[in-house]
Amino acid sequence: MAHVCIHWFRKGLRLHDNPALMAALTDCKELYPVFILDPYLHHTKVGINRQRFLIGALKDLDCSLRKLNSRLFVLRGKPEDVFPKLFNRWNVTKLTYEYDTEPYSLRRDERVASLAKEHGVDVIYKISHTLYNIERIIEENNGKPPLTYKRLQAIVQNLGPPKKPIPAPTLENMRDVKTPRSQKYEDEYRIPTLEELQLDSQFLGEELFPGGEQEALRRLDEHMKRTGWVCSFEKPQTSPNSLSPSTTVLSPYVTFGCLSARTFWWRLTEVYRGRKHSAPPVSLHGQLLWREFFYTCSVGIPNFNKMNDNPVCTKVDWDTNQQNLAAWREARTGFPFIDAIMTQLRQEGWIHHLARHAVACFLTRGDLWISWEEGQKVFEDLLLDGDWALNAGNWQWLSASAFFHQFFRVYSPIAFGKKTDKNGDYIKKYLPLLKKFPPEYIYEPWKAPRSVQQAAGCIVGKDYPHPIVQHEQISKKNIQRMKEAYAKRSSDNNESPIKKQGVKRNAPSVIEMLQKKSRKE
Ligand code: FAD
Repeated sequence: MAHVCIHWFRKGLRLHDNPALMAALTDCKELYPVFILDPYLHHTKVGINRQRFLIGALKDLDCSLRKLNSRLFVLRGKPEDVFPKLFNRWNVTKLTYEYDTEPYSLRRDERVASLAKEHGVDVIYKISHTLYNIERIIEENNGKPPLTYKRLQAIVQNLGPPKKPIPAPTLENMRDVKTPRSQKYEDEYRIPTLEELQLDSQFLGEELFPGGEQEALRRLDEHMKRTGWVCSFEKPQTSPNSLSPSTTVLSPYVTFGCLSARTFWWRLTEVYRGRKHSAPPVSLHGQLLWREFFYTCSVGIPNFNKMNDNPVCTKVDWDTNQQNLAAWREARTGFPFIDAIMTQLRQEGWIHHLARHAVACFLTRGDLWISWEEGQKVFEDLLLDGDWALNAGNWQWLSASAFFHQFFRVYSPIAFGKKTDKNGDYIKKYLPLLKKFPPEYIYEPWKAPRSVQQAAGCIVGKDYPHPIVQHEQISKKNIQRMKEAYAKRSSDNNESPIKKQGVKRNAPSVIEMLQKKSRKE
């Protein structure tokens, strides 16, 4: 029997390396490529820059599908409500999608799969968002996620290189497959606009990173041509405050799945072949393994995006301080380096990894002593690459709540930026108000004599805020508080957080537990 098939795009907004889409085309007479605007995922948590990126990615996907005589059908609503109607309306017999490890997605997919079963629809899902099958990594580590990068590296070494990506479908693959494309469908299943999502586009800046698979592949090609740069890439040597990005900025494309991580990996392998090149953890392969590391943790550690009930996360008595949180979020801390980064984040939706370090440390253990969960929410809203697993994992790292334990090493909001930008050109770009300050004061304008402030046309306390904390004093006090949190953890658990490593056990994986839980709900 030839199938009527829905391929459900969620992440994985691409045609290349899309094994679930290829599975849809096997023995298929009618194909409906579908994307669902889920109010939970696409309205509540996502800022305007990310919405614009998503719309771009959907337009690009639609365009590529049309070249294959198909199209994208965009629906609105909760997937659990949408699918039964579609199954009946189109007489669907097969549903395919890319496997997604986020807890919300697992619960959603469990519900949709059971609705499909009720409607006699076969469900096929394939793993292609990560380099490996994350559950295999956990299995290989005796049922526990590896809690260090080294351990992850050892495991993936045993597993061998990631699978090779598969090519995008061609017209030949689509020869016997039709997608109904009547005029009435054009409006009913249209791609949304920002206005429809109730977002005011007048606040949007220039679109520096347009969404979409074609743009992703073009950018990948550009980077891969720079063989010397790729082979000598060492992440710690890149700059947080260069005027144009010092790393690839492929992260939004990988997050939305416009670019397959495996395609990225294998293109790097081609560039490395026969050449001397850097190695993980600092190389570009190494960066993709960081992604794999945090994904594995997010699958294997319950409540990974929270402090409470998260077994690897140190409990810290973070303060609640709405005023300071708002000052950080809105770039009003009075520390130009921090405020410039937060301005870039809001305007452009991307900041360098070490810039993320600086602002995350400042918000949490360094200066403001505000919970990393608050920072995580702000990043989720503002980052183009906002990713549930990577955001949670990196915030725990930077706040020294998990993975990283040298809490006494605090980034200075003044000295750190100076290392790579003495002149403060980055600050001048994002905070033009300060552009007339001489280099010796641009990181600390409050220290400038009144006459210098007047000459710069910016009076601290009037035109630009005083620093909201005294960094030298507060960071010392916070190190002490962190010491106490660690001591408490050790006495509560009778163990050091550093030593928690995988040991053999036969307990169910977190995916199994979640699946059981969602079955009960
Ligand atoms: P490149 O250096 O060019 O790296 C290539 C790819 O490797 C990236 O596109 C990304 O997919 C992956 N990668 C690089 N660094 C990391 C890392 N530390 N952890 C995991 N994967 C990595 N990254 C996100 O994609 N989404 C997030 O929500 C996110 N939140 C973060 C929050 C904090 C507090 C911090 C410190 C880091 C966060 N990161 C996040 C990780 C990292 O900063 C970005 O992935 C990176 O800066 C993206 O820029 P790039 O594509 O130029 O990276």
